[in-house]
Amino acid sequence: MGEPSGGAHRADHDVDRAADALAGALVAEGFVTGDRLAIYTQNNPAFVIGLVAAWKAGGIAVLINPMNRERELRYMLTDSGVVALLTLDDLYRTVAGPLIASGDTDVRTVITCSPLDFQTRDDTRLFEGVSREAVDGAVDLTVLIAAHDGSTLPRPAFGPGDTAVLTYTSGTTGEPKGAMNIHGNLAFNAQVYRDWTGLRSGEPILAVAPLFHITGLVGHIMFAIIAHTPLILMHRFAPDVALDAIREHRPVFTVAAITAYNALSAAPGATPEDFESLRILYSGGAPISPAVGDRMEKFFGAYIHNIYGLTETNSPSHGVPLGVRAPVDEASGALSVGVPVFNTVVRVVGEDGEDVPVGEVGEFVTSGPQVVPGYWNKPDKTAESLPDGALRTGDVGFMDADGWFYIVDRKKDMINASGYKVWPREVEDVLYTHPAVRESAVIGVPDEYRGETVKAYVSLQEGASVDEQELVDFCKKQMAAYKYPRQVVIVDELPKTVTGKILRRSLRDGN
Ligand code: ATP
Repeated sequence: MGEPSGGAHRADHDVDRAADALAGALVAEGFVTGDRLAIYTQNNPAFVIGLVAAWKAGGIAVLINPMNRERELRYMLTDSGVVALLTLDDLYRTVAGPLIASGDTDVRTVITCSPLDFQTRDDTRLFEGVSREAVDGAVDLTVLIAAHDGSTLPRPAFGPGDTAVLTYTSGTTGEPKGAMNIHGNLAFNAQVYRDWTGLRSGEPILAVAPLFHITGLVGHIMFAIIAHTPLILMHRFAPDVALDAIREHRPVFTVAAITAYNALSAAPGATPEDFESLRILYSGGAPISPAVGDRMEKFFGAYIHNIYGLTETNSPSHGVPLGVRAPVDEASGALSVGVPVFNTVVRVVGEDGEDVPVGEVGEFVTSGPQVVPGYWNKPDKTAESLPDGALRTGDVGFMDADGWFYIVDRKKDMINASGYKVWPREVEDVLYTHPAVRESAVIGVPDEYRGETVKAYVSLQEGASVDEQELVDFCKKQMAAYKYPRQVVIVDELPKTVTGKILRRSLRDGN
């Protein structure tokens, strides 16, 4: 993490030294090779220090969403057998402390930090309600860094095939599984980011995604390390805070879900000039509707390159190299997610597991140096998703004659309306072409006659107004009778994961 212009961020040698000290303290507490340190905080330098320290001590970092509460935290700490925890004072006081005191976990060392620790700006919007008080039963990270020197620790004995982190899949589709991301996976995909984006050393990266998520881990932290470039961190993504950070630190690159670009473009007072430094833009984690992609390109003055992958592929397995525009499939209207990254084989297979012909729809099955070897403690799930090491992605799509890949949708989100397959993404893309629509999500709801029927939720552009029935009619004109939504509901905001992925599952649960 270098020194961004005008900022007072700590330089990379400070991160390295702090990580040495934390690693030294962990080892002194009995942390041994292969042990797990959980990191349960918002985005801040302590996260990066904790990650590097876990590796220096020969261990594995378990990355936990700071939005998780007692039930999820208990599951992840016990599932992965965590012995040490790095967390925020506030989260320790309210969530982690009582859980650990209950004796239900193996955690024996707790290190706490505060968003104020490495604060470089006096920003009340960010730090409202945050206090810096010592908490019982935990060691303060800054105290610990001052007291320890781990620089003489022996080099940890691990290689590219050893597990570096456990990332719990964010759970848009069910029980979280701890993907075992190995060092070789992370190093490979950091290299992919560098090769594909052409980012040069010293060109700052804006961290929009949460660091516990694979996009933040690889597209922000690992990429910044390998490119030797500053990483601009916000406690959490908020459009107004991001706008200030962009104005002050002039980042060149970011990768974020398209919903974050949408939110940034609508930040109060934002003008296209504010974003002039941001020349290398990538979007991953969720589909880009071509209509929204065009709108964003006009606003940001730069093309937003698609990138596709899963937690299990350590972020990109496919992408669009800098300077190349992805094609839009004429028949389905889908924007291509790119081509597979180098040294990666992606098959498109039918229900029988055999390859389908070019242009036909099947499930993507991915093998390459970015694919995880399995899930922690879950041999059954590993055998199901990674039989013979190739990942069954659960994404359905096709490859065109030029080798471009297109996602039709997620297999589990298919709607079965009177026996016809309806893919929500296609209907959402049509809704996005309506000028009043900001975001859309389409689900199947039970229907007495059709089995399932199509229902859409939309949020509207600032100041726009439209009738729900008008949106039904708008779709009806443009698609087959079994596909168009029988009902459209206008809401203020659609439910999203912390990475900005629209949560169709929450909408389904409400029906
Ligand atoms: P879970 O796996 O538990 O359901 P999740 O969906 O949030 O949780 P991730 O690994 O974060 O897990 O997301 C991977 C999925 O995101 C992919 O399988 C794909 O459906 C979708 N996705 C990622 N990038 C793109 C993209 N560029 N275009 C379309 N979809 C994408």
